[in-house]
Amino acid sequence: MKPEIKDLIEISNYYGINKEFVISGGGNTSFKDNQTLWIKANGQSLENLTEDGLVALNREKLHVISSGNYSDDPATREEQVKKDLMQSILDPGKNKRPSVETSLHELIQYKYIVHLHPTLINGILCSRNAKNLSLKLFGESLLFVPYIDPGYTLFKKLESEILLYRQKFSHDPQIIFLENHGSFVGADTTEEIRTIYNDIFKKIEEHIPLISDLTPIPGNSLLQKFVPGIRLLLSDKQPGVIRFRNNSLIAKYYQNQQEFHKISLPLTPDIIVYCKTRYMYVEQASSADKILESIRHQLPRFLSEYGFTPKVIIVKVNLIRHKLRFTLFPMSYISLINSNIE
Ligand SMILES: [Zn+2]
Repeated sequence: MKPEIKDLIEISNYYGINKEFVISGGGNTSFKDNQTLWIKANGQSLENLTEDGLVALNREKLHVISSGNYSDDPATREEQVKKDLMQSILDPGKNKRPSVETSLHELIQYKYIVHLHPTLINGILCSRNAKNLSLKLFGESLLFVPYIDPGYTLFKKLESEILLYRQKFSHDPQIIFLENHGSFVGADTTEEIRTIYNDIFKKIEEHIPLISDLTPIPGNSLLQKFVPGIRLLLSDKQPGVIRFRNNSLIAKYYQNQQEFHKISLPLTPDIIVYCKTRYMYVEQASSADKILESIRHQLPRFLSEYGFTPKVIIVKVNLIRHKLRFTLFPMSYISLINSNIE
């Protein structure tokens, strides 16, 4: 194995194993020399990445995508871009598709690129103050890109932003933050990538206080009564799995409709992938029967409106109010992900 590929696998596994940096198949990593770019294949997790899970692409062919004459219709355009991407693959016999974010990796002129969705960074990137906060903490060492749906439009936006940055500073940005999404860090060695990420996390931890009273709330007796019922209601032919989680932060959002509303839409593409775009709220907490009744009542409308059964149901299980020093809004979401129905 090329030593550079060994380093790439090592750093991928290092970040992939920690859910604070990336979950499931999210994030991607790459290495490039003058002719070839090696990138994590689609659907692979960073945690288990091996050399076999990489796709090698011809960089010259990848450049076609930048000047491609593609359709205005987003769906057709994405298909056309995908076709050009597939044509750059050096070993199509391996039957692996490159990550959809491959062209973003090609844009940044460092040998190694590590793209993650870290909870800590997304805490800033999903906040209302994302841009100001990012620039305040990292100044011009960072390129901030406002939210754009992943795909070709994001690629074109990033391309023009990097060009401007390059003109101004005569080098590429080593840190790129994508609003409501995650981070790209580029460097010529994986050691430098680690140093940069460590510095980023240190700086955020120093400047933004974490929620100090995230206390778990133990399950109450109601739980045993209504959880099996929910499982029955939502299981198809295959029985589903339900995970329940309750803590002082989640409690803040189930106390009433108004609070629930604040977390009722997804904040990142990851949340869309794993939890879908809408969640069900059950304000009824008096008895297990009433909770189930409310879900049964809401379900047909939920299905017809959104076209899927809920992955996340937020139930007002108790009426204890908690005082929270509450800073990182999306943290709550990460908690909710774990209470999804798989
Ligand atoms: Zn991503």
